[in-house]
Amino acid sequence: MRATGIRKAFGDKPVLRGVDVALARHEVVALIGASGSGKSTLLRCLGLLEPIDDGQILLAGADISDPRVDANAVRARLGAVFQSYNLFPHLSVLDNVTLASRVVHRLPRRQAEERARELLARIGLADKAKEHPDRLSGGQQQRAAIVRAIATDPEVLLLDEITSALDPELVGEVLELVRDLALGGSTILMATHEMAFARDVADRVVFLDQGTIVEQGAPADVFGAPREERTRAFLARFT
Ligand code: ATP
Ligand code: MG
Repeated sequence: MRATGIRKAFGDKPVLRGVDVALARHEVVALIGASGSGKSTLLRCLGLLEPIDDGQILLAGADISDPRVDANAVRARLGAVFQSYNLFPHLSVLDNVTLASRVVHRLPRRQAEERARELLARIGLADKAKEHPDRLSGGQQQRAAIVRAIATDPEVLLLDEITSALDPELVGEVLELVRDLALGGSTILMATHEMAFARDVADRVVFLDQGTIVEQGAPADVFGAPREERTRAFLARFT
């Protein structure tokens, strides 16, 4: 996925001011930046959940920001997990996880459920498959949302603060899951406030400040020897 010159304003307030970001296949990129810097907006724009004002987004070389593109077909190739849970409340966890596989990707129910149960077992939610989301804790709902996002083997996974709802002892499992997904071919862009998370999992870190990418590079470079004053000021808050 490659986005160039992404601009987005809400009313007269510019939130993304010409953002260029590219994700190589198998790459895990952490998007860091202060609250309000535009991380969620960028993820939503890339996921075609928010229209952009200017710029271009390419997925596998095709321009998905072209208004003539079938946005639903594009979204079916992406996986997204955002800050708030968006499981369907009237469906069981299993049906939530298998819905896109069955309906959009036309996988037979048996196959979809087999894969879903395997994924749920991997994150310790096997026994919750038949429960409705409101019977799960917030952390469990978030983990189910992650599993739902990866159930269709998305080409790009957009993760927004995925660990913020998790109990501390479950964060490690999610990191491992994200790493496994990257090795399995997923391309991941994740916004996070957890610098240790970014340092551990990301191949590259992108620092967004007031809607502009100020600095990016390998985690060791960005965290260990930031070049820009704004990056240093931001990271100083975490030490
Ligand atoms: P956080 O770390 O708190 O999640 P963020 O980097 O994800 O912050 P965004 O949620 O992208 O930041 O918001 C960037 C700016 O855009 C903020 O000033 C926010 O108030 C504004 N904004 C986001 N969504 C909307 C919207 N739907 N309508 C109006 N303003 C919005
Ligand atoms: Mg956000």
